[in-house]
Amino acid sequence: MTAKNMDELVALCKRRGFIFQSNEIYGGIQGVYDFGPLGVELKNNLKDSWWSSIVYDRDDVEGIDASILTHPEVLKYSGHEDTFTDPLVDCKSCGERFRADQIPDYCKDEDLTEPRQFNLMFKTNIGPVDDGDSFAYLRPETAQQIFTNFKNITDSTSRKPPFGIAQIGKAFRNEITPRNFIFRVREFEQMELEFFVLPGEDEKWHEYWIEQRLKWWEEQGVKKESIELLNVEKHELAHYSKATVDLMYKFPHGLEELEGIANRTDFDLGSHSKNQNELNLQSNTKENKRSNSKLAIQNEDKTWSVPYVIEPSAGVERGFLAILNEAYREEVLENGTKRVVLGLKPHLSPIKAAVVPLKKNNPELVELAKKLKKTLQNEKLGRVILENTGNIGKSYRKHDEIGTPICITVDFDSLENQTVTVRNRDTMNQETISIDSLTEFYKKSLN
Ligand code: ATP
Repeated sequence: MTAKNMDELVALCKRRGFIFQSNEIYGGIQGVYDFGPLGVELKNNLKDSWWSSIVYDRDDVEGIDASILTHPEVLKYSGHEDTFTDPLVDCKSCGERFRADQIPDYCKDEDLTEPRQFNLMFKTNIGPVDDGDSFAYLRPETAQQIFTNFKNITDSTSRKPPFGIAQIGKAFRNEITPRNFIFRVREFEQMELEFFVLPGEDEKWHEYWIEQRLKWWEEQGVKKESIELLNVEKHELAHYSKATVDLMYKFPHGLEELEGIANRTDFDLGSHSKNQNELNLQSNTKENKRSNSKLAIQNEDKTWSVPYVIEPSAGVERGFLAILNEAYREEVLENGTKRVVLGLKPHLSPIKAAVVPLKKNNPELVELAKKLKKTLQNEKLGRVILENTGNIGKSYRKHDEIGTPICITVDFDSLENQTVTVRNRDTMNQETISIDSLTEFYKKSLN
């Protein structure tokens, strides 16, 4: 089961503190959101899970955290200054501006202007004088600084293809029509891997990464049946791509891109490299006389090869939305009441366990609950909270709704017999266990 519609998810996110409209007290900024106390936990868990699977679980990927401010020449030679544009039309009737492929039904053809190209990159001034000359771009994708650091990383790690460089970080796009909650926003995070391979092995590795990424999304709770593969048609490919397969997810508003997996050929390293004429480049790059680095690998016969790049690129916000949607369910209980449950995989749950004293004014119960919270927190498996509201039923409902795998209730038996009651989110089963075995039980519940 998933959410019935986007409104259900938006309401849950606001009610429980996952996501808020940014700058709301001053009217907000369209296409910008803030992640609240639970949102930041889920988002960090998602990013950690990606990083573990892409960097730690493998032996052929290095990480990087590069700057957001980007030298204009990086985005000139990458092709973004020329081609990172959307065609825009104005509607003379409603006065609004839309992407040419996203005009709402209520606008009539005769009211629309001819499409004009609009660059999606944000610029900002560098230094004290705003003379329009010294500026930087806010990066529109994290990938470019991976390419500009190619030599730094191969020199410092002695890596040779096949190997990858991974990065998670903010990207900015001045989307003309941000919409569908956090699906299309102006400030977002990407989880990108640039995997460098020998030319000729690129197609094999492209297939490999599509498989890997599908498997990973399934491990995050996004069912295989909810994702469709889309082979992007030749005329729709980005300027750098030889082939792109999009993982299309059934979002509440429709089937749309969750992640793109592109074969970027030797375009990027080739574009940013000096001495391009020595490199036997296969892609069509702009002549570069400004770069001071040769972004290539020297072969044994002293010739140079430029690796091809396979790029799985996923949006954190879109992943967040897909995971929430998949996890959301409403159940009707035996007594006729309803409960909302977020059936999140435990490694993604914002809160791993809640410790609930039966009575909030009983110092002995509260003290023991605090002690147990601390013990579990020391396992460092994520956030454990003390839920001292004095209302067990309300606490259970809240933690079902935010996806906490277990609630641990401390009652008078706990003081007398050293036991606690553990309630499971999914089955609602309650079990009495000894305090001695609580840590083991907790660790098991997260697997
Ligand atoms: P779209 O066609 O939906 O605009 P795109 O093809 O431009 O997306 P890419 O350039 O391939 O997107 O970016 C890689 C990933 O970054 C996307 O799969 C998506 O998850 C994420 N992403 C891109 N643009 C946005 C955005 N405006 N808001 C949120 N996530 C985004």
